[in-house]
Amino acid sequence: MLYLDYAATYPVYSDIVHNLHDIVNKYFFNPSSLYEPAIITKRFYENQRIAIANYLNVKADNIIFTSSATEGANLIIRGLNYKGRNKIILWGAEHACVYQCVLSCSDVKSATLESYKGYITYEDIKPYIDRDVKLVCLMHVNNETGATNDINEIARKIKECDKEILVFSDMVQSFAKIPVKLDNIDFATFSAHKIGGLRGIAALYVRNKNLLKPLIAGGGQEFGLRSGTENVLGAYAMVEAMEKTKNIYYAKHKHIIDLNNCMRNMCNSRNYIINSPEKSVPYIFNFSTLKLPSEVVINGLSERGIYVSNGSACSSKSESKSRILTSMALDDEVINTSIRVSLHPSTKLDDINEFFNALDEIIYIYG
Ligand code: PLP
Repeated sequence: MLYLDYAATYPVYSDIVHNLHDIVNKYFFNPSSLYEPAIITKRFYENQRIAIANYLNVKADNIIFTSSATEGANLIIRGLNYKGRNKIILWGAEHACVYQCVLSCSDVKSATLESYKGYITYEDIKPYIDRDVKLVCLMHVNNETGATNDINEIARKIKECDKEILVFSDMVQSFAKIPVKLDNIDFATFSAHKIGGLRGIAALYVRNKNLLKPLIAGGGQEFGLRSGTENVLGAYAMVEAMEKTKNIYYAKHKHIIDLNNCMRNMCNSRNYIINSPEKSVPYIFNFSTLKLPSEVVINGLSERGIYVSNGSACSSKSESKSRILTSMALDDEVINTSIRVSLHPSTKLDDINEFFNALDEIIYIYG
């Protein structure tokens, strides 16, 4: 098997799988119970919150555990009060969990930013800023192309223009691929299964918790913002995954840049169109063959045990066309033949060669 779809999800690190058995037995107690093992479990859980806060250089009580980044985005967008200001500015290339959530809010007006460059600058946002704007949603790293937005700097300029405007950045594809700075950001989401942790746990950064009302009523866990018995195991695995990911990624960054350059050369020599802007993380690479529909290539590769995708796995059922490629005003032919390859620090040059050899064969047979 050759897995090249790490932006969709990660395998769980084997050390974490190994340790889970002990952790689940030792810390199975409900953290809200009053006896000693439960208090120890609660302390263990809170230590995971502190660890995540330390990675992000923020305070622990600004971190809320949720079940997914999708839930975190919904809590922000639906949990804010839009009385007085009821406009949200968002990028048309946001992940579906942000984009669809904004569209579903009937009390909100939205302004959608398109971008031919494939990423957003403050100048793209400025014309839409007025006294109605409550929230700007702008992701840090795009999941389909790897394009990066200088979100902390953009947020600084937004606040310089109007300090009442709140900024939410989806940072699900950022951790350890690009430095994360939250100085000017009000809300940010991170997801464990994108970095080798378990599914069912994510972290939400909230600068001011008083701005949100909970979507789930119940026992008042997570500072009253997200009721439900705490996912102690998930929080543990998320912290372990952050630690491992951070170390491996920094050590392998140059190697991944080399692999990305190699893919760019392979595409240029075949006259394929490269959709990932230069300003992208090297881990995510999007291109179009112009020769065969994406699905035919993906199926052909899958028959050979090679797994890639043509965009966001989460949107493959709900949205028929890539929003980022559409917002870049690319031709339908480019959009319909696009392929996303996403890498892991362990990906080798031989893997890239194997992928392109298989692609050449499929295009030769079906093209
Ligand atoms: N945001 C981005 C950029 C993503 O890539 C994903 C997952 O595909 C999500 C949000 C949703 O994350 P989760 O699976 O934790 O809901």
